[in-house]
Amino acid sequence: MNARPLIAVIGGGIAGQSAASVLSDAGALVTVFDKGRGAGGRLATRHDDALQWDHGAQYFTARDPALKAVLAGLVARGVVAPWEGVIGNLGPGGFTPTEETDARFVGQPRMSALVGALGTGATVYDVEIRDIAPRGPMLTVTDRHGEHFGPYDGVVVATPAPQAVPLLALAPELSGRIAAVETAPCWALMLSFAAPLRLGFDGAFIDLALTDGLLSWIARDTSKPGRPQDTAETWVLHAAPGWSAAHVEDEAEDVAARMLAAFARLAGGLPVPLSARAHRWRHAMTTRPLGQPHLIDPRRPLGACGDWCLGARIEGAFLSGRSLGAAMARQMGLRPAQASSSASQ
Ligand SMILES: Cc1cc2nc3c(=O)[nH]c(=O)nc-3n(C[C@H](O)[C@H](O)[C@H](O)COP(=O)(O)OP(=O)(O)OC[C@H]3O[C@@H](n4cnc5c(N)ncnc54)[C@H](O)[C@@H]3O)c2cc1C
Repeated sequence: MNARPLIAVIGGGIAGQSAASVLSDAGALVTVFDKGRGAGGRLATRHDDALQWDHGAQYFTARDPALKAVLAGLVARGVVAPWEGVIGNLGPGGFTPTEETDARFVGQPRMSALVGALGTGATVYDVEIRDIAPRGPMLTVTDRHGEHFGPYDGVVVATPAPQAVPLLALAPELSGRIAAVETAPCWALMLSFAAPLRLGFDGAFIDLALTDGLLSWIARDTSKPGRPQDTAETWVLHAAPGWSAAHVEDEAEDVAARMLAAFARLAGGLPVPLSARAHRWRHAMTTRPLGQPHLIDPRRPLGACGDWCLGARIEGAFLSGRSLGAAMARQMGLRPAQASSSASQ
C-alpha cells in the first residue's frame, strides 16, 4: 500500500463527497469520478439563461451531531442558509402551514452548492465508470470508453443502488445485498412565470386527492435564499411516486402538460408560463433501504454508500458516506479524524 493510499470514489453526490472528505482528512489521496457534468448528484440545479431551479432535493434538516457540526461551518461561509419560506400542507380545506421544529436548510445560491463545498478530493466530471477490477492487491476502474484509471488502494462506490449493483460484480456478497434495495422514480416540472403567482405560500405538500394522485409537492424556488430575484418567478413541482412510476416512460412534453394542468387546477387558474420543462428522476427516492450505514468488503478496501443505505434523504446520504469513509480509513490503517456520529459503526 502507498504511504498515502490512493482512493477512487465513484459518484460525486453528497455520499461520495462525504466519504472522500473523511478519507482525505485521514491522509488518503482521493479522486472522485462522476458521470454528470457538475457537482450535486440529486442535489441538482438546472440553469436556463438567468433562471435556475432546484429540480431534485428541495431542502434538508440536520439532526445528527456530525451533520450539525459541518452545517455550522457551511452556514458561516454562506454556502448553506435556512429557507424561511411559508411551507405547509395543501388539502381539501386549503393551506395549513406546518409547525417545524427543525430548521429547513438549502444550498446557496443553489442546492448543488452544498455538495461542491463538501468535497475535498479532486473531482473529475463526465466520466462514467463501468468496471472495477483487481490488479494484484490493488483495484483499477474503467470508464465507458475503456479508459483505465488507477491502480488504487481502495474504491468507494457512491452511486444510486441500481447503478452500484453491476459496478460491484467483483464483490457478489455486496452487490447481492444492494440488489434488494428498492427505489421509486419522480417526475419534476420546472416552471417560470413573468409575474408572481401570489398563492400565499412558498412550498406545499399536496394532498393526493386534490390532483387524482398526480402532484405531491410544489415550491416557489425563488423564495429560497440567494436565488436570482430580478428575472422570472420560478416554481418546481414533483409528481407523486405512484403517478411517476405509472408514467415513467411517458414523453417529457406530455408529462409537463399534465403536471401544469394539475397545478392550474390547484391554483384556480394560472397565467401561461414563460417556460415549462419536465425532468425524469429514475431513482429519485429509496423506498426500501438497506438498513445499515454502509457496506464494505472485509477482504479489501472496496465499499458502497449512498442514501439507499439509511433512507431517502440528504442527511442519510451524508452519514452513509462518512460512515464508509471512516471504516475504509480504519481498514487501511489510517486514523479517521471524523467526529462521532450516530450512524458510525
Ligand atoms: C425529486 C427529488 C426530491 C428530493 N427531495 C429531497 C428533499 O427535499 N430532502 C432530502 O433530504 N432529500 C431529498 N431527495 C433525496 C436526496 O436528493 C438524496 O437522498 C441525496 O441527494 C442522495 O445522495 P447520494 O450521494 O446518495 O446520491 P446522488 O446524489 O444520486 O449521487 C450519486 C452520483 O453518482 C453518479 N454516478 C452514478 N453512476 C455513476 C457511474 N457509473 N460513474 C460515475 N458516476 C456515477 C451520479 O452522476 C451522481 O452524481 C430528493 C431526491 C429527488 C430526486
